Amino acid sequence: MPKRYEPPDWDALQRRVVGLGEHSHRKSHFAVLQERLEELERSRAVLRAERDLSQLYLDTVPAFVVVLDLAGRITMINSFGCRLLGHEPGELIGQDWFATCVTPGSPRLTAQSHIDALLRSGALAPGYFEGELVSRDGRPILVAWRNVLLRESSGRIVGTLCAGEDITTRRAAEQALHNLAFFDPLTSLPNRRLLNDRLRQCMTASERSGFHGALIFLDLDQFKLLNDTRGHAVGDLLLQRAGSRLQEAVRACDTVARMGGDEFVVLLQNLNTRPADAGRQAAGVAAKLVQTLSGPYDLPGAAYQGTVSAGVVLFRGSDSTVDELLQHADVAMYQAKASGRNATRFYDPAMQDAIDARTALADALRSALQAQAIVLHYQPQFDPHGKCTGLEALARWPRTASTWVAPSQFIPVAEEAGLIEQLGEHVLSIACRQLAAWSNATRLAELPISVNVSAVQLRSPGFVAAVGRCLRESGVAPQRLKLEITESVLVHNPDEVIAKLSALRRSGVTFALDDFGTGYSSLAYLKRLPINQVKIDRSFVHDLPVDPNSAAICNAIVGLGNSLGLQVVAEGVETKAQWDHLRVAGCGMAQGYYFCRPLPPEHIPAQLGADASGTQ
Ligand code: C2E
Ligand code: MG
Ligand code: MG
Repeated sequence: MPKRYEPPDWDALQRRVVGLGEHSHRKSHFAVLQERLEELERSRAVLRAERDLSQLYLDTVPAFVVVLDLAGRITMINSFGCRLLGHEPGELIGQDWFATCVTPGSPRLTAQSHIDALLRSGALAPGYFEGELVSRDGRPILVAWRNVLLRESSGRIVGTLCAGEDITTRRAAEQALHNLAFFDPLTSLPNRRLLNDRLRQCMTASERSGFHGALIFLDLDQFKLLNDTRGHAVGDLLLQRAGSRLQEAVRACDTVARMGGDEFVVLLQNLNTRPADAGRQAAGVAAKLVQTLSGPYDLPGAAYQGTVSAGVVLFRGSDSTVDELLQHADVAMYQAKASGRNATRFYDPAMQDAIDARTALADALRSALQAQAIVLHYQPQFDPHGKCTGLEALARWPRTASTWVAPSQFIPVAEEAGLIEQLGEHVLSIACRQLAAWSNATRLAELPISVNVSAVQLRSPGFVAAVGRCLRESGVAPQRLKLEITESVLVHNPDEVIAKLSALRRSGVTFALDDFGTGYSSLAYLKRLPINQVKIDRSFVHDLPVDPNSAAICNAIVGLGNSLGLQVVAEGVETKAQWDHLRVAGCGMAQGYYFCRPLPPEHIPAQLGADASGTQ
């Protein structure tokens, strides 16, 4: 800081000069001094007037004027600034500006780093910045700043002069105007105009990313009747509640808009790149939204429960215009209404058929689970000496007497339809009962059974308890149960997953990492997972021994597994040549059609007793 200017004590000086004048021999000196003094007095009066004017100006301008030293301490603040901040003028001098007056949290850091950057740059031009101050009583004040560096005559920077305009009211007014233009006043949801805007942006983004988007047009059935019979106030309340329910049901990146009346549109972003998968995702969300809106509403007078019709259109890129898409969703919604209301329809008939088929499959699976119709087949695993080392349980769904639905088809349906927990527990309980049933059989008594667990199933909160229940009820030692997981379990919340697996591992259950090499393949996680077995995916085994890349991958997985002390199982071994290659590479176990196809449990004892050496 510059040394503060200390004015001389003019009155004492004058007294001394008058004293000098009393001696006549000094009279001429005295006259000169008297003149100088008068001149100085005049300059002093001018300076004082100028200073008072500047102070008056500083205190009158409707702006903050603050001077900070290099450490961010306040060396001057005008009375307008003090008043707005609710402090007495003297109170703030010497205080840390950022700690006292700037809103805590990230904006404070931003304000400080802005000033720091300005100081570092030594810029001559002012720096502009918008930031939030906090008044003594906690009121936020939004300020637009122009900050300039203060320099001594030598050029040395000594601080910052910050001049700021209070823009709190202006910003609020701008926000209110923006809200009026883009939001529905009744529900505070985006209006048609904002939806159009977001839809346009979403289409452009989808063009680049390849992800699908979807529009879901929702209309409350019989809303007019409620409005007419119970009055507009009740109708408005229902619309507000419906709007909040929708908003709570979607992800933050999705948009819920009110189009007017009882019509809402939901814009979904980032759906799968494959149309069929994206269609299923959109159908799933539409079903959830319809269910959410159809739940009972606690309205004044009496509760209300109504149905909803929904129309869905899928899009990718900008093949259609915004208006066309909205129109298509609207058309689909009218088809839903025409079909008797309380329904959801896709604009694309082929998509509708696919969704219908999927819904039918989910319904059939629900019934099959209730009827305990899902069964398990078992595929033995062998070591290089032809000794059976365990069995993998594979779910089978005999949908009719002649058609078996493959697990690759019905597991995803179970996940989507919320049936995976039930299916998973059913499979676990059959496998545990099978273990108990084989406890006394020769060759089978010691063998572990591996049960596949999907990522969605593992994420369900009741998973660990379900495993414990099945083990307890069957009375089987946990060491005989092996759970097969895939790397996809780590996509969401890896820490939580690892904690669950570790809890089971402590109880004695073991784990295999299935389909290794096809997914995440993060060695960092591989190290953290409590697994004791990795299974080489059959896609790599398939091309052995001819394809050098597959051979290299299989060899690498075997090497990695062995060096980490993990058992390595090759899946899908179909030929002797494949097995020979794997065995030479050091693979300790294999399973595949070369040894044995998955079989119903009643065929297993004979299969292992009759020919446990491998070849079929
Ligand atoms: P996975 O766990 O990798 O199971 C191995 C799959 O390879 C089984 O198909 C099996 O029948 C097949 N396989 C075995 N040996 C050979 C072979 O030599 N050649 C060929 N080409 N294939 C062979 P499956 O039974 O159709 O099961 C498919 C997938 O479905 C399983 O892959 C597993 O991820 C899943 N899955 C099966 N059962 C269940 C279950 O109970 N729960 C869960 N969550 N998923 C299951
Ligand atoms: Mg498996
Ligand atoms: Mg596998």
